[in-house]
Amino acid sequence: MDNCVFCKIVNKEIPSYKIYEDDLVLAFLDINPVVSGHVLVIPKKHFESIFETEEEYLKRIVIVARRISIKMKEVLGVEGINLYQANGSVAGQTVFHFHLHVLPRRAGDSLDFVKWMGKIAKKLEKEEFEEMRDKLAIN
Ligand code: 5GP
Ligand code: ZN
Repeated sequence: MDNCVFCKIVNKEIPSYKIYEDDLVLAFLDINPVVSGHVLVIPKKHFESIFETEEEYLKRIVIVARRISIKMKEVLGVEGINLYQANGSVAGQTVFHFHLHVLPRRAGDSLDFVKWMGKIAKKLEKEEFEEMRDKLAIN
C-alpha cells in the first residue's frame, strides 16, 4: 500500500533491522524501543488492523512471536515477555499496518503494563457479567 511505512519496510524501500522473514511475515527492531530488544512482527501483506487481517497471517504472526520470545529468553536473559497490539487510534495505534509488539521484560524496567491491566474500570454485578457474556459470545 502506498504511503504505508511498514509496506515500505517489506518492500525494502526503507531499511530495517530484520530479525526474521518468511513467505507471510517479517519481524524487525522497533525504531523507538520502549524496552531494549523491542521487536515488531508484521504481515507482509497490508492489513490495517486486526479487523482486516486474515487468519492465516495472524496464526503465523503469533507463532513467530513465540519463537522470538524463546530466543529473547535465551540470548537476552530476560525473565518475561509482553505481547502488545493496538487497533485503531482510540486504542493507541499509530501505524495503520497490523503489527504485534514483542517486548522483553526485565525486573525494574520502566514499562507500566501490568499496572494498567490491574486497574478495574467498574465492578460488575452478576447480571452485568451475564449480559456482557451474552453480547460477546461467538460461535
Ligand atoms: P503502535 O503505536 O501503532 O502500536 O506502534 C507503532 C510502532 O512502530 C511504534 O513503536 C514505532 O516506534 C514503530 N515505528 C514507526 N515507524 C517505524 C519505522 O520506520 N521503522 C521501525 N522499525 N519502526 C517504526
Ligand atoms: Zn502497509
